Amino acid sequence: DNPDLSPERQPEDQDAALRPKSLDEFVGQEAARDNLRVFIESAKSRDEAMDHVLFFGPPGLGKTTLAQIVAKELGVGFRATSGPVIAKAGDLAALLTNLEEGDVLFIDEIHRLNPVVEEVLYPAMEDRALDIIIGEGPSARSVRIDLPPFTLVGATTRQGLLTTPLRDRFGIPVRLNFYTEEELERVVTRGAKLLDMAIESAGAREIARRARGTPRVAGRLMRRVRDFAHVAGDGVVTAKIADEALTRLEVDRLGLDAMDRRYLHMIADIYKGGPVGVETLAAGLAEPRDTIEEVVEPFLIQLGLVARTARGRQLNDRGWEHLDLKPPVQSTN
Ligand code: ADP
Repeated sequence: DNPDLSPERQPEDQDAALRPKSLDEFVGQEAARDNLRVFIESAKSRDEAMDHVLFFGPPGLGKTTLAQIVAKELGVGFRATSGPVIAKAGDLAALLTNLEEGDVLFIDEIHRLNPVVEEVLYPAMEDRALDIIIGEGPSARSVRIDLPPFTLVGATTRQGLLTTPLRDRFGIPVRLNFYTEEELERVVTRGAKLLDMAIESAGAREIARRARGTPRVAGRLMRRVRDFAHVAGDGVVTAKIADEALTRLEVDRLGLDAMDRRYLHMIADIYKGGPVGVETLAAGLAEPRDTIEEVVEPFLIQLGLVARTARGRQLNDRGWEHLDLKPPVQSTN
């Protein structure tokens, strides 16, 4: 599959160039922004660290960007790390003791913290304290270290991936949703300005329509379409150029990529429309189950192409139509 089209972060991403720097610049996610604005204002007026925030939603919707914006609007420092990177309790202790008053500590993929590390986080979040064990055996004793007030901002794809004690310690849970076509058009138009890219509004709309509801995908598609416009035309991104470039990239009219279609075809062709278990699908597609559940399925479900049922995944009528296939005739017995 083409990594260019995946909503997941890639090492070569030039995300920084397109990152909005303030809540006002951030497109869409109205409810989340209104919410954050209130908490930021109130923390500032009380001159206290803001309560801990958990952002959850599919990759590429702006969790990291919002975390940076929160720090910026609070006027505090920003430190970033991720769940799988913090290997030992001591690594987290080092991060926490180095924070300055009011800082935002951002932990991406917070559901992937090792349980021992997670234990250290509980008192840190709740009492802003660190319990460390000094010495070994019978002489070992626990020492409590006070931490400066700080705000933990966690990001995860689904709230349910967190353990209950961790989830309960976030005062401000914020869900991010897929963007509408109109919002993505604004993301594309804004990005084109920043990248100094010539684009017609119909070209921006075409990219927005096929960006899988995801700003990160929109950013990637923009760059690819721009390259294509330079080779195939005079550099201006028109609707026609965008369509040709995206068709060549195997992004279909709903914005689905090759991986999405492989998934749909597996259910349709091999399992006659389902229901089929997600484990079975993951094995058949040779993809990790997490990728299927966190990256591939949310958008397909949102579009109504597939449904999660108690007995597994099932292709809806819209799914059959999109594949241009007919559902098999049900046997009645
Ligand atoms: P996540 O952390 O949810 O995976 P990021 O915050 O890294 O997503 O965002 C991915 C890319 O999309 C970045 O380049 C970011 O600038 C862009 N982006 C995300 N949300 C928005 C938005 N609301 N408006 C404009 N650009 C956005």
